[in-house]
Amino acid sequence: MVKQTVKKAAKKSAAKKTVKYIYSFGAGKAEGNGSMKELLGGKGANLAEMSGTLKLPVPPGFTITTEVCTYYWNNKRTYPKTLQADVETNLKKIERETKKQFGSEKNPLLVSVRSGARASMPGMMETILNIGLTEKTIPGMIAKTGDPRFVYDAYRRLIMMYSDVVMEKAAGIEPKDGEGIRKILDGMMGDLKKKLGVSDDTHIPAEELIKLCAQFKATVKKVLGSAFPDDPMQQLWGAIGAVFASWNGKRAIAYRNIENIPHDWGTAVNVQTMVFGNMGETSATGVAFTRNPGNGDSHFYGEYLINAQGEDVVAGIRTPSPMNRWSANEHSKHLPTLEKTMPKVYKELDKIQQKLEKHFHDMLDIEFTIEDQKLWMLQCRVGKRNGTAAVQMALDMVKEKLITQEQAVLRVTPAQLGELLLPAIDPKAEAQVKPIATGLPAGPGGACGKIVFNSADAIKLHEAGKNAILVREETNPEDIEGMRAASGILTQRGGMTSHAALVARGWGKCCIVGCGELEINLSAKTVKMGGKTFKEGDELTLNGTKGWVYNGALKMLEAGEGNKNLVKFLALCDKVRVLKVRANADTPEDAANARKFGAEGIGLFRIEHMFYGKNSDKPLFILRKMILSASEDERKKAVNELFPFMKAAIKDTIKAMAPYSVTVRLMDPPLHEFVPTLPEKQQELAKALGISMAEFKERAAGLHEVNPMMGHRGIRLGVTYPEITRMQARAIFEAAAELLKNKVKAVPEVMIPLTCDAQEIVNQKALIREEYDAVVAKTKVKNLNFSVGTMIEIPRAAVLAYEVAQEADFFSFGTNDLTQMTFGFSRDDIGAFLPEYLKQGILEADPFQTLDQRGVGMLIEHAVVEGREAKPNLKIGICGEHGGDPESVEFCHREGFTYVSCSAFRVPIARLAAAQAAAKDVLAKKKHK
Ligand code: ADP
Ligand code: MG
Ligand code: MG
Repeated sequence: MVKQTVKKAAKKSAAKKTVKYIYSFGAGKAEGNGSMKELLGGKGANLAEMSGTLKLPVPPGFTITTEVCTYYWNNKRTYPKTLQADVETNLKKIERETKKQFGSEKNPLLVSVRSGARASMPGMMETILNIGLTEKTIPGMIAKTGDPRFVYDAYRRLIMMYSDVVMEKAAGIEPKDGEGIRKILDGMMGDLKKKLGVSDDTHIPAEELIKLCAQFKATVKKVLGSAFPDDPMQQLWGAIGAVFASWNGKRAIAYRNIENIPHDWGTAVNVQTMVFGNMGETSATGVAFTRNPGNGDSHFYGEYLINAQGEDVVAGIRTPSPMNRWSANEHSKHLPTLEKTMPKVYKELDKIQQKLEKHFHDMLDIEFTIEDQKLWMLQCRVGKRNGTAAVQMALDMVKEKLITQEQAVLRVTPAQLGELLLPAIDPKAEAQVKPIATGLPAGPGGACGKIVFNSADAIKLHEAGKNAILVREETNPEDIEGMRAASGILTQRGGMTSHAALVARGWGKCCIVGCGELEINLSAKTVKMGGKTFKEGDELTLNGTKGWVYNGALKMLEAGEGNKNLVKFLALCDKVRVLKVRANADTPEDAANARKFGAEGIGLFRIEHMFYGKNSDKPLFILRKMILSASEDERKKAVNELFPFMKAAIKDTIKAMAPYSVTVRLMDPPLHEFVPTLPEKQQELAKALGISMAEFKERAAGLHEVNPMMGHRGIRLGVTYPEITRMQARAIFEAAAELLKNKVKAVPEVMIPLTCDAQEIVNQKALIREEYDAVVAKTKVKNLNFSVGTMIEIPRAAVLAYEVAQEADFFSFGTNDLTQMTFGFSRDDIGAFLPEYLKQGILEADPFQTLDQRGVGMLIEHAVVEGREAKPNLKIGICGEHGGDPESVEFCHREGFTYVSCSAFRVPIARLAAAQAAAKDVLAKKKHK
């Protein structure tokens, strides 16, 4: 019975099923909602959410879905058959709500056509305002508003935008940077303003605008070869097509490549009733953030322009005024706030922003327009922020109970956390010099580098491994790749919400905008500031946190020293995470450094690192003797000489890490690499061994291996030369015993490298045990404990993990070797082929950087399961650089590892990644309930 009805219902809906291509919103209603970003794009979904769910004032309109974009590109740039009728039906709906008619001569409706993809792509896609304004509808608009200046201002904007975004592209013209129809029309308007002696667009009188519009149209026809369409429907469809077409524009593709946004998502198109911020002194338009996106301060923050439309704020044409006193900066502090000029509207906006934050539980970026004291919401989305702000907001929102701890750790990306660990100018060096120019602090941190004046040069310098400071009048979306490559960005124009500022903040790039005193000469490639002329290649230092520019290169500081919020936020991460985080450290200094970053022990202490770097001459010499020894006697002598060095290195490092434990990996040196190549060194060594040079050469040749990576190394050395293992064990245990005597906690973990069979461990453990007994007998230290574990870095050991675990107290996955041997890729030789594998898409990523979860990961999973079956409490970790890669850390969390271990400076990132992995678990479980 039940089944039948279900079947019937399914049939019915299938029969009726026509694809819905358009969703309307406005007047407190909406067919869509905020969860429909895939279909409606971010902008459309949130317009629906604001209108339908939150009942906020949103100008009525409709969204054409992303499916239409996909259709458009799959069908030679055509639309679904029903689309035209759907658009007309929905226009009728808007007409009913606004009581205006599209194309009407008496009471015309104007609309904007706005793009909106799933992920926000700032400045990427084009928006066209004032669609529907024609010679025929202009008189109606003038009669309604009584303001011909306003109407012709709107008209000239439409011609400018439309000819640029729709017509020039449709004509297949690709103007060079700074050329094209837009530039020509801008130039004409500039000339007019000069002639009239006015600085502001709004001061051009109506009669001049009327003439200007006529000239614009003539110019458009001449330059682009076709007339500006003076028909509302033609304008509308032209604009819709331009939005879909722009999805595959060059700069949109470039942005998606950088941000890893799939190219097949498509964009939606929003058609929306125009509201006018440019209807005089009681109108305005603005951009705001529910909190300060530059530093995380929790006050409402934003900028607005009186008597302005659309992108005037973002374009940085006039200096925007601050929303309130919290938003004032160097350039705007003397300007009246919205709070003062329109207190009622400000109050309403403030209420709305609070409501939005409560609803979305996050910081939002808001676009609004005020038409004659009436507030309209045009957009809201989760706001981009830099690392400093992300951390501050996450901490504040937990305190405010707006989000949980788990949500908070997910609010800061590893890259954003990385910003807090990025270089800044050394305050001591900064205190001694005066800035030569100041602008707005759009992206914090410090940067120092050579001046370049265009994106291509920034990229060139970056590729040459040098730091570039990109100096521009203002940035536009074509600069995206150059901004990415530059270490710092400095612009003459633009406010805190300008394109450069938004993009730089998103990437955590040091950026100063609106530095008005810059005098840039693009053709001569010079810039004047502070009374000095700088050439391309001259050095500058930027303080993006303050907006200050310095002459020359100042001393920079390393990793975000002394940031209180960083410490607090990482403490929050520590509360949420399950995985422990250790560091790979080989010296007491490394260990101390690792602790500063929050490491809970050393997961990999490579004994042989005492043979590299400073103070290594003596031990290195002895090691070489050991390597070149021909008999057990000779070797024993060298080994005993090495002992005190080894013990001291181990003791100091354990002490620096106490009370946390240190995993000491037994020697795994590439023998042949240690044979000296300089003749005088060879002679010295031969003399010490008491052998002739001929004999020396013979012994050295005997060490040659065809494939050293798979040769006589790791545990194999210990099996063939037990005295080497014994000496190391003795060094470890004596170091620990002496520390214990001094009340320093020391629980050494001995780690055997390159195991392929459990019997190897049995063999070595017996030696280690004997040395342990001897040390306890000698030192009489009773509380000396230790464990013996193994690295899992040979596939066979992973496969036989059940057997191996029976002999080992812990596993540590050495994913560098494990990756090498699983792929059969020699780590040192991948340069010849791996780039091609990546280019051809045979492999998705370099497996030495991002853990290959499918292949190597399957071996690991098998080893974890089998290992824990043999020994339920088996401690499991990872060492090798994957331990600091956020994706790999998440994998380790899922597989139930005990800890990850990575280089010291990656420890904070690993702590965050571990917390995020755990947080996702918790949130997913909550969702299921
Ligand atoms: P972007 O994706 O670049 O933010 P938008 O579609 O948001 O582009 O449009 C840019 C600006 O144009 C908006 O911030 C708003 O000021 C203005 N705008 C868009 N649609 C309208 C409209 N219907 N009425 C008034 N202004 C609009
Ligand atoms: Mg835009
Ligand atoms: Mg917008």
